Amino acid sequence: MLTENELQLSADVLVIGGGPAAAWAAWAAASQGVKVIIADKGFLGTSGAAAASGNGIMTPSPENWQKVASERYRVGKDLANLRWIERVIEKTWLSLPLVEKWGYRFPKENGESVRQSYYGPEYMRVLRKNLLRSGVQILDQSPALELLLAEDGSVAGARGVQRQHHRFYTVRAGAVVLANGGCAFLSKALGCNTNTGDGMLMAVEAGGELSSMEASNHYAISTAFNATVTRGVPFGWASYTDETGKDLGGYIDGRRDPAFLPNALMKGSVYARLDKATDEVKAVIEKSHFIAFLPYKKAGIDPYTERVPVTLILEGTVRGTGGIRLVDDNCATKVPGLYAAGDAASREFLAGLASGGGGPNAAWAISTGQWAGVGAAVFAKSLGARANERVARAAGQVGLRSNSFASETFDSDAIVRGVQAQMFPLEKNYLRSEQKLLDSLAKLEALWQQVQGNPKQDTVRDIEFSRRAAALTAVARWAYFSALHRTETRSEHIRVDYPQTDRNQRYYQATGGLDKLWVRRDWITDTVTTSSVETTPTTPVVSKL
Ligand SMILES: Cc1cc2nc3c(=O)[nH]c(=O)nc-3n(C[C@H](O)[C@H](O)[C@H](O)COP(=O)(O)OP(=O)(O)OC[C@H]3O[C@@H](n4cnc5c(N)ncnc54)[C@H](O)[C@@H]3O)c2cc1C
Repeated sequence: MLTENELQLSADVLVIGGGPAAAWAAWAAASQGVKVIIADKGFLGTSGAAAASGNGIMTPSPENWQKVASERYRVGKDLANLRWIERVIEKTWLSLPLVEKWGYRFPKENGESVRQSYYGPEYMRVLRKNLLRSGVQILDQSPALELLLAEDGSVAGARGVQRQHHRFYTVRAGAVVLANGGCAFLSKALGCNTNTGDGMLMAVEAGGELSSMEASNHYAISTAFNATVTRGVPFGWASYTDETGKDLGGYIDGRRDPAFLPNALMKGSVYARLDKATDEVKAVIEKSHFIAFLPYKKAGIDPYTERVPVTLILEGTVRGTGGIRLVDDNCATKVPGLYAAGDAASREFLAGLASGGGGPNAAWAISTGQWAGVGAAVFAKSLGARANERVARAAGQVGLRSNSFASETFDSDAIVRGVQAQMFPLEKNYLRSEQKLLDSLAKLEALWQQVQGNPKQDTVRDIEFSRRAAALTAVARWAYFSALHRTETRSEHIRVDYPQTDRNQRYYQATGGLDKLWVRRDWITDTVTTSSVETTPTTPVVSKL
């Protein structure tokens, strides 16, 4: 049941999210001497992709900065931005000692801290403690649903529901940071089910734009039995076989072909056995990736000697790239007073259309979080003391409010299943083609029409789930609409009908729109430093298995 008493709060800065990006943003804003509230969908400290396991961090020591930056630029296939890569590396390097100061214990080597990865639950526990110490007010179990806009179009706060108090809440604020993670389309990838792209819908409704949404299809390996842990590192020591036990190989020039597994899975079942791990490797991977071994332990399986079926689970924009378009170095968006950070923001400057997993993403969350937090605090201060007296209206529409007079409500579970039917299959989302994208877009359009109807709103859960169904449908449409318009293969965006990378398509693709979608080419004009774009097909789309 929904109670009548809505919670009303005000702050200078509201941060939406509860992962590292949000925590860094809230701390950085509070450090500017302003009042900060942070609202998380789950419990800040245990929710989101980072809290679920842990991350390697891109944080080379200064003598290696240039080397790592050049490599990252190369991986970005002419779409990354060297200046941004350098500033992310520097900011991350300077920030990690703070985490240590706040109580996190990095491992030591010869008396020196090795700050190259963090254990997620402990890292987030330390960040939460630090927020409380800094005077930040935390609203747990409080998914944000929509932004508030002032008459001049600037952001004025947000509104959401509190799951445990069964009520709405409103936070009036001079500026808002969207740090609500990426969108994994409820694939159950561990830690990612809170991440349903709500911020993208909120941003677009408020007048913001998205970018690089064609890079929204990151898949990650997991065991196919009763588990959704997508930590890929242990599989680096796997050999793969088919149903009959035939070795599937999958190497090109001695290195594992990234297209090997998806191609093999599209042909039939694939089994992995971690039989390439030496005793030394076993000790390391079991310690640093122990969560990946839990499913084996529970099922009584020895992964080093027994074959286990594997699958690929969609992580979408979590380890993909697309998100809210940033318009300046402070991580501002097109909407005055609205900032974005972490997986919620497009990571194109750091990754191009490639994945930022394995280090860059963690660094991106740390650095963009702080830039957004400071940017938001400065913006809020510029409004003066009466910022929260501005007349404001709620900007949310689809999945929240309807013009329909019909009494029937749409079925949010069915909508989610419909979206997943278009986004999960490798045949549609990994190997894309114009025809398949058009077919999927037509089906998603039908779902979009359905979510224009009445949302079920009897309980906070109904309210959250109706809006979530709308967000997932919206994100899927932006992803495929962008994919349709980039007529080349580049990094994670593979078009079977355009298998080559086209040097002439050196632009970021902005997108947005609600009923009527649009794309725009934002040309990149800085000189290419070291191009890695080849004129021959860069991704083997059909393997020889
Ligand atoms: C298995 C796995 C392994 C990974 N390994 C690495 C690695 O080794 N190195 C690396 O760099 N990256 C890695 N990543 C990626 C990395 O975890 C993410 O990039 C990082 O967590 C991003 O931080 P974030 O704060 O933006 O998002 P998250 O950590 O996902 O946090 C998002 C937060 O937003 C909240 N939220 C969502 N919607 C709402 C809403 N409507 N209202 C309020 N709050 C909301 C969620 O509850 C959550 O707390 C990995 C990801 C996965 C899934």
